[in-house]
Amino acid sequence: MDFGIRGKRAIVCAASKGLGRSCAEALAREGVAVTIAARTREPLEAAAREIEAGTGAPVTSVVADLASPEGRATLLAACPQPDILVNNEGGETPGDFRDWTREDWLRALDANMLAPIELIRATIDGMIARRFGRIVNITSSTVKAPIANLGLTNGVRSGLTGFVSGLAREVAQHGVTINNILPGAFDTDRLQLVLGLAAQSAGRTFEEQLALRKAAIPARRLGSTEEFGALCAFVCSTQAGYLTAQNFLIDGGAYPGTL
Ligand code: NAP
Repeated sequence: MDFGIRGKRAIVCAASKGLGRSCAEALAREGVAVTIAARTREPLEAAAREIEAGTGAPVTSVVADLASPEGRATLLAACPQPDILVNNEGGETPGDFRDWTREDWLRALDANMLAPIELIRATIDGMIARRFGRIVNITSSTVKAPIANLGLTNGVRSGLTGFVSGLAREVAQHGVTINNILPGAFDTDRLQLVLGLAAQSAGRTFEEQLALRKAAIPARRLGSTEEFGALCAFVCSTQAGYLTAQNFLIDGGAYPGTL
């Protein structure tokens, strides 16, 4: 299927590896000119070269900490008028809320709620003027089903979800869609880290922890980043123009609800 987005411009945040990179790769495969950002130069530039070589689409890399205003300004200078914005970040560390200070909450809010909102604010009016826009926020399955020790994530991502839910209804009439993709367990460096911490605190080996995680997923496996990127590219397609204000859970059936 031709997704009809060849020649469009996309910003993909936090995209040197993992889920962000898979979204950039899937969009580039559709002929989208992609600008990717992350904080660490070497893996970011390597990712840009590999995506460009594999897809033939132009890829620009921008070294930036997207939780900071300076980082976002650098990214927007490289791609001021994107047609597609994929918001993503590094994620929060697990822990007990009794240990988190006001500063911890403000840092989490900045990174995973206010940074995406600031990037939307800077780019949405151009999308409205061109009568085409796709905004995708990578959030988490914890928005639908909280994980007790991921309180920072449970809290701040719900804030972003609530805000964009209203905004999506305001801009739908202009051909701009806003959706969230909620990953379950995907095979990335971050998941390795989270599983490693869980194994440590439960006194299990990493392999035992991984086996338990897979056993709790009806698909009995982790998701692949390619599966995630493919969903993102479809949500950004012209065919998906009537899909907006939705939360797409992609979790191998792990969420236990009927709806
Ligand atoms: P990952 O493999 O660790 O990749 C994270 C990416 O984000 C890297 O490119 C990293 O590069 C970049 N990054 C982190 N902080 C950044 C910042 N402040 N500014 C710019 N770039 C930044 O993680 P992932 O698994 O793809 O996860 C992506 C998001 O999905 C996270 O928010 C995570 O919580 C969420 N999520 C993931 C899963 C899963 O199973 N993987 C499940 C639920 C939710 P640098 O470090 O060089 O900046």
